Amino acid sequence: MSIISNSLKRIKPSPTIAVTQKARELRAAGKDVIGLGAGEPDFDTPDNIKNAAIKAIRDGDTKYTAVDGTPALKKAIVEKFKRENNLDFSTEQITVGTGGKQVLYNAFMATLNKGDEVIIPAPFWVSYPDMVLLAGGKPKIVKCDEKDGFKLTAKKLQKAISKKTKWLIINSPSNPTGTGYTKDEIENLAKVLTKNKKIYILSDDIYEHVKYDNFNFFTIAQMSKLKDRTLTMNGVSKSYAMTGWRIGYAAGPKNIIKAIGKIQSQSTSNPSSISQAAAVEALNGPQDFIQERANAFKERRDFVVKSLNNIRGISCLTPNGAFYVFPSCKSLLNKKTKLKTDTDFVQKLLEKENVAVVQGSAFGLEGYFRISYATSMENLQKAMQRIKSFCENLD
Ligand code: PLP
Repeated sequence: MSIISNSLKRIKPSPTIAVTQKARELRAAGKDVIGLGAGEPDFDTPDNIKNAAIKAIRDGDTKYTAVDGTPALKKAIVEKFKRENNLDFSTEQITVGTGGKQVLYNAFMATLNKGDEVIIPAPFWVSYPDMVLLAGGKPKIVKCDEKDGFKLTAKKLQKAISKKTKWLIINSPSNPTGTGYTKDEIENLAKVLTKNKKIYILSDDIYEHVKYDNFNFFTIAQMSKLKDRTLTMNGVSKSYAMTGWRIGYAAGPKNIIKAIGKIQSQSTSNPSSISQAAAVEALNGPQDFIQERANAFKERRDFVVKSLNNIRGISCLTPNGAFYVFPSCKSLLNKKTKLKTDTDFVQKLLEKENVAVVQGSAFGLEGYFRISYATSMENLQKAMQRIKSFCENLD
């Protein structure tokens, strides 16, 4: 009998973390590797946020807090939803965890029974299917088309719904494609969801603030008919360059929020008291740097998209958010290049040109790869030259 549980056998380690690790190892072995795999802003956390954390330590704010978040942070989150999304929540509808990742994991553990289905539009963030599997649920992957901006359409949603559907996940702007759903697109999905009253919606809004070209962010809880069965997850990692601080949160129906807290009370207890104090400052303090950083990301996005579209065999959409692009390498997968899959493509790219990217199949859609452009312009320039040289010298 194996010491490892059956539920663990259902899942695999995160492929994006694996690529980052591989790049780190090659670098340690002396190779000049450019890592475009990591999903975190390369900017530092703003000083006002750091200072709030230092003050919290000095003030002795170093003890256990309420399991699901301090009253001050919950209040700041309630105000954030009101100010930015015009959504009213009470503090009992808010839960805070150690990163959005923990909040999502707890939400699935708290709600899924064996065989319950979760509709996951692909390409998806790598952790959704594995979290669902770990919780005993069944991921129902729905492949979305490039021509639809890799977004779920009402027709595809309708087709994917069964009697066992418990959740639909929406992630906008998306990891890995960077595309965001417009209000019209959300309304189209909402038409299907209002007819199917048992389905809950998990909206992962972690990239809300990383957006370009005046994209109007709209979250599905803003559809009043669906608010009562929507869990809206967000966090400070991407918006405030605070990935290491590990603070994420969710707002939604009281019974789900309470259940999430119950799991947390028996697993990790509260997220770090110091990080929570920092998150209060992030949400309540000056917000201007969000735009400044989005401008810097936009410059990189424009450069990367243009460079990729100038490479023979590669084509790339222009996304309106996050810090990823999801180019197609389909026309390079053939007998002549001896590359069969996107995994062959990324492995060869790493071997030959020392550029680390992640294969589309890791996100549930073959024939593509993900580039994170959350790195310096200098790195991006070098990387684009190397990718060009790789692609154009394959045969
Ligand atoms: N959701 C998406 C789509 C992500 O890309 C990430 C992080 O990469 C998360 C959630 C979790 O972020 P965190 O746990 O840092 O809050």
